[in-house]
Formats: sequence, C-alpha cells, structure tokens
Amino acid sequence: MQTKSKLLIAITLMLLGLTAATIINVSLNFREYSINSAIDKSRMAATIVKDGLTAHMVNGMMDKREYFLNEISSNAEVKSLWISRSDNVIKQYGEGFNNETVRDAIDTEVLNSGRMIKNITETTGKITLRVTIPYNATKHANTVNCLSCHDVQNGDTLGAISMEFDISDMRNSGMLTIIKILAINLLFIIVFLSLINHYVSPYLKLFINLQDGIKKAHSGNFTHRFKTTISGEEKNIVSHMNILFTKMQETFGNIKYNLSTFIPQGCVSSTDPLYEAKTIIGELSDIYKFKKTIELDSSKEMVYSRIIDVLKIKFNITMFAFYEVDNVLQNRKLVYISNGDSICFDSVDTNATECRAHRTKTDVISTEFINLCQTCDSKDLKHLCIPFTINTDASLIISITSKTSDEISKINSKIASIKNYLEAAKPVIESKILMDKLRDSSLRDGMTGLYNRRFLEEFIDQVVSQAKRDKGTYSVMMLDVDFFKMVNDTYGHDVGDLVIVEIGKMLKEKVRESDLAIRYGGEEFVVLLHNATEEGTYDVAKKIHSAFANLIFDVGNGETMQKTMSIGIAKYPTDGDTIWKCIKLADTALYKAKTTGRNKIVRYTAEMSDSKDVR
Ligand code: GH3
Ligand code: MG
Ligand code: MG
Repeated sequence: MQTKSKLLIAITLMLLGLTAATIINVSLNFREYSINSAIDKSRMAATIVKDGLTAHMVNGMMDKREYFLNEISSNAEVKSLWISRSDNVIKQYGEGFNNETVRDAIDTEVLNSGRMIKNITETTGKITLRVTIPYNATKHANTVNCLSCHDVQNGDTLGAISMEFDISDMRNSGMLTIIKILAINLLFIIVFLSLINHYVSPYLKLFINLQDGIKKAHSGNFTHRFKTTISGEEKNIVSHMNILFTKMQETFGNIKYNLSTFIPQGCVSSTDPLYEAKTIIGELSDIYKFKKTIELDSSKEMVYSRIIDVLKIKFNITMFAFYEVDNVLQNRKLVYISNGDSICFDSVDTNATECRAHRTKTDVISTEFINLCQTCDSKDLKHLCIPFTINTDASLIISITSKTSDEISKINSKIASIKNYLEAAKPVIESKILMDKLRDSSLRDGMTGLYNRRFLEEFIDQVVSQAKRDKGTYSVMMLDVDFFKMVNDTYGHDVGDLVIVEIGKMLKEKVRESDLAIRYGGEEFVVLLHNATEEGTYDVAKKIHSAFANLIFDVGNGETMQKTMSIGIAKYPTDGDTIWKCIKLADTALYKAKTTGRNKIVRYTAEMSDSKDVR
C-alpha cells in the first residue's frame, strides 16, 4: 500500500475514533442531564403540589383540591399525577377521592420509607419518568403545623405524590444532537483529509521519488533524476541530489567496463557495478601483490609454491594436486599433492595426453558427465581439473578433488578468479623456464648433452654439502679415451667428435638419475656415483669400460674402428675431504692406468700420491 493511502487511512481512523468518543461522551452526558432536569422538574412540581395541598388544608378547602390537581395534571409534560394517602390519614380522614389510593408497590414503599423514589421506564416508543415524593408531617412554630390537624408524629409520612413525565423528547433531541455532531465531524474529517491531501501529497510524492532513486542507486544505477512541485528548500535539496547523482553516474557509470579490461570477465557477477568495481579492485590489488612477489622469487619452483599457497589460503581448496607438463616430451611431473594420493593413473605421467584436461585444454568437471575423464581413479571423489598452458614448452594441471559435488560447484565458480592468478604467474613462469633453459645450456656440453665443467664448478659444492649433511658418499670416476689423438689424426675430427657423442649417450644409459656424468674436457669425463659401494662403483666402471670397448665406429670407406678407455677411481670422503681433491686423486689413478698399459680401471691408493710419477 502506498504511504499516502496509509497516512490518510490512519488519520481517518483517528478522526473517526475521536468522533465516536465524542458522540458516546455527549450522549451519556446528555442523557444524564435530561434525566436530572426532568427529576428536578418533577421535584418542583411535587413541591408545588405539596404546598398547594397544604394551602388547601390550611384554608379548609381540602374538598376543592381536585380542581387544583387536575390543573397540574393537564400540564403537557405531566402524563399523570395522583396522590396516595397513608394509613394514618385514611384512618383519620377516610380514603379520600378515588384516585388517592395506593396504586402500586412504589407508592407503598415511599409511604413506608418516607423517601423519594424515581424510576425510568424506557420502551422503543417513549421514555417515562416516574417520581413518587413522600408528604411528611412537619411541625414548625411559625409555619405549618401538620400535627395540629393530623393525628401523627412529627416526620410521619402523610401521603405520597406520584407523577409520571413523558421525557421521550429528551431522547429525540439527544439523537438529533448526535446526528448533528456526527455530521459536523464528518464534514471536518472530509475537509481535513482534503487539506492533508492537498498539502502533504507533494511531500509524499517527493518521498516516493527519493525512495525510487535511492533504490536504483543502491544497485549502482545513478540515472534517476528527482522531481518536485514544492518550491523553496525542497527544490534546492532536489537539485543538489540531481547534481550528486549526475556526478556519481559519470564517476561510476563505466567503472565496471573500465575495470573489467584489467582482468578477464566472469570472476565477479553482480548487478551492482559498485560492488563489482570493489571486488575487481580487490582482486586486482591481490593479483598485483602476488605478481610483485613472484617476480622477485628466485626459481620456478618457488612460484609454483606461491600458486599452491594461493589455492590453499585464498581459495580454501584443501584437496588438490599440482602438475607440470613438459609439452615437448609430453610427460607430467607432480609438483605438489595435498594428501599424497593422486586420483590419476601413473601412466599419465609418462604420457600426459592421457589427461583429458591437458589434451582438450578445457576444464574437466566430473559432475558434468559420468566417468568424464577415463584415466581418473577418483575413488568416489568428485574432481575438477584445470589445464593451463604456459608456453609451447610447459603447461600446468591443477586437479582439485572433493567428497561433495557442492564443494566442486563452489570451486568451479571461482575458476575465473583462479585463472587470473595463473595468468598473472604465466609470464613470470615463462621467464623462469627461459632462465632455467639458458642456465642449463650454459651448464651443459653442447656435443654430448652432459653437464660441463662449469656445472661442476658452480654446483658441486652444494651437491657435496648436501651429501655431507646426509652422511652420503660420492664415488669419483675419471674417464679418458686411450690414444684419442690418433683418431683425430687418422680419421679426422668428425670421427673424433662422433666418438665423444657416443660416449655421452653411453654414459647417460649407464648412470642413474641420482648420479652425475660430466664432460670434464676434451675426451675426459667425470662420473659421480651417489652412495655407491666399492664393488658397486667398480661394477659401474666395468660396465662403462666394456660398453665403450664394444662400441664399433664407422670411420667411412666401409671401415670400422674400436677404442678403449682408462678409468681412475677415488672416493669421497674416504680418500679426500673435498670433492675437488677426490677428482684430483681419481686423475692420479687414471694416470696410473695410462702409465701402466692403458685400457684398465685403477682404484686410487695412498701410495700413488707418494710416487714420483704423480701428475
Ligand atoms: P692418452 O690419453 O691415451 O694418453 O692419449 P691421447 O692421445 O688420448 O692423449 P690426450 O688424452 O692428451 O688427447 C686428447 C686429445 O683429444 C687432444 C685433442 O686433439 C683431442 N680432442 C679434445 N677435444 C676434442 C673434441 O672435442 N673433438 C675431437 N675430435 N678431438 C678432441
Ligand atoms: Mg685426454
Ligand atoms: Mg686420451
């Protein structure tokens, strides 16, 4: 219901209530007043009758009283009048005229009690007031002495005068008064309501107009313009409001559009552009801080750990796995998993295209279709896998799991926001990959793909200090091809290069991932075996030695060639307290092999250092 109608109804009800109260009050007062005045009148009439009768008695004209009584009865308002004698008077003077006998119980009671009784009888047609007044004997020296004629005591009741008055007019005039009051009040209500309507309406209209405008503004729409027909202060307020709204519209109108150009749309959905703007600015600020932080991170792995933290803390995702995919080799590496239990089959690690999300480059939500990703062993868990391409070399996969579809849907609604973070991290990850690549290429030998001497110089201390902490060991092997110069001299450098390349391939095959194969220089190689026993080291050395001896090189013109190598072995930290010392000792052992016939494996011994032949 409109405010105006509500106000008018309230005022009408109030005025009607006031009218009803006035009418009830007036009618009650009017009735009481009318009855009281009729009683007063009847009392006066009774006094006149009493005095008249006394006068008749005193003048010895009692037999003439009928005329007097008839005259009073003939008064229009007196409906009937009669006198009743008390037993004392009847006893002394007889029953009197016919109409002077007791007519009813009221007469009897008044004669007995000596007190006046008044009684109102109300029918639909009329109202009758009955008053019966006692005529008591008095004895006054100067005035009338009833006891001089009557054989009674002072105060005894001599008789009673009863009168009936028709007071119907009182009711009629009461009704008339009420109707008049009602009419006046109704007229007043109508006039009052019209005045209110006339003066209050413009304010109410303005109020409703303000309400509409503010409602629209609340949802970010400032196009509303306020209007009013009231002049003065109100007009000023309206024009100030309109200026304010115009400014707001200019400021906030396109804010959502402008801001959404900074981050992909869809991360916020609201009909309120101000709310959206606030959320987008919050999001932008968070992403900016995130980007600034990861830009200063030293490695790609650290950037990944930031993304993982964002997923955990900002997005409250508790169960997920984070993978990195090598797009060239199509293999997948697990970077992080929250509960240690991947929902993916291991086969996906060697062939990442088995991952539906990675292969299709679309988000995979298990709740969308039964068994959507067939390489998933989700064990009743719902999952949401988000692929993200960094560049041609690398991609990411975030595999989120939950026990409930609800949680997955909730996370799904945050995907746009999650991707904003990945998008922000993308150039940083890209540059870290490039840096890693550059670094890797500067640390690797171009011909064999093995680590080079620079790697050894830069990282060996880190590797060894780790081994020291873990109380680990490194077996150091120094390899050198026997009479290699001859290869170059006989078959040319290309064949010499081929031999070096083949040694690289062979070493990659023979050493484990935890071991290191390094091209130390020319045709010399260093192999570091982590935590290998003496026998284990010797076995690996033998395998390398014989694998090389078995290599058959095509030297052109249908000719082939086979070569041998010498290997020197030392052990860290048994033989030397630094890895460089051990490399040197392995070289000493190699020298021993060279000087004692070549094509052999020689374990370093302390005596070798004492020898004059040490190089
Ligand atoms: P030994 O070791 O048995 O004493 O005799 P060697 O003839 O192998 O002597 P050394 O190890 O000193 O010879 C190294 C030779 O390897 C010298 C150099 O011409 C050759 N060389 C070094 N680097 C390369 C390379 O990258 N390509 C080729 N083709 N030859 C290389
Ligand atoms: Mg050499
Ligand atoms: Mg050599």
